[in-house]
Amino acid sequence: MLALGIDVGGTNIRFGVFNGHQLINTTRLEANLSQACRDVSAESAALEVVRILYSGIANIIKKYPDIQAVGIGFPGFIHPDSKNIIQSPNLPGLSYFDLRGELSTISGLPVTIENDANAAAYGEYCMADRPEGGLIYLGLGTGVGGGLVVDGKLYTGQHGFAMEAGHIIIEPDGRQCGCGNKGCMEQYASASGVAMSYFNATQQRLSAHQIAELADSGDKTATEAYVLAANALAQALASIAKVLDVKNVVLGGGMTAAWPLMQQAFMSRLDADLIPALRGSIQIKISTAEDSAGMLGAAMLTKANSS
Ligand SMILES: [Zn+2]
Repeated sequence: MLALGIDVGGTNIRFGVFNGHQLINTTRLEANLSQACRDVSAESAALEVVRILYSGIANIIKKYPDIQAVGIGFPGFIHPDSKNIIQSPNLPGLSYFDLRGELSTISGLPVTIENDANAAAYGEYCMADRPEGGLIYLGLGTGVGGGLVVDGKLYTGQHGFAMEAGHIIIEPDGRQCGCGNKGCMEQYASASGVAMSYFNATQQRLSAHQIAELADSGDKTATEAYVLAANALAQALASIAKVLDVKNVVLGGGMTAAWPLMQQAFMSRLDADLIPALRGSIQIKISTAEDSAGMLGAAMLTKANSS
């Protein structure tokens, strides 16, 4: 059985055709959904998202008519029962929208939808050969998303907000976050957080990638921005571990390319913040999925849901 896994991002959408775990085709569609959803009515934003996604799906189904199901990892809060998109911070305009139902009607295929970080968590879980006890996934990109798999199942919470780890407050009255609160972890540990740390110290606007290059060449301020990110991430993870006590942790997303700049500070802060008896017992792995975990998870969730 072939399944199509879709990872929806703000500026591009990736489609992966899977035969079991095996990725047999990937397609990338450049589409600025953030732009398409800005300054338009909720109805127009929803229609545009459906139109763009369906154009990609239709093209792939033409090539792979054996596709039996479609899974979508979407950057937004998904209601655990209705599977409606409650809200998408990066795609404002969408509100309580049944994308799954719309696409299922047009394509004639069963469609599942999940939050993108949750889909990536499930993809990592499948790739790691379904480790006993499950895993925690933290995706470090423009923001920080998280997902949790327990006893073989994704745990999305009773309102669809489980593992919103990026919004754990690590600095009271700290930096303003898009969620409305201040001092959230993602304001320090994401790519935009690193850029903000560097800007605050130098008044220069550089990307997290450029700052990593500076840090690699010995720049102290650039290095400090990554150490701050590492500390913020470790503080939040120590809190998560105290609540969930899950052994396997996978870190993914673009920021992990700079992991060597963060590792030492991260590990020592994690150890310091954990309950002493837990120190050294959490396994931190950097994802090797090269961004395909979201597509895989979305595809695998179609099977998980149909079985
Ligand atoms: Zn927040």
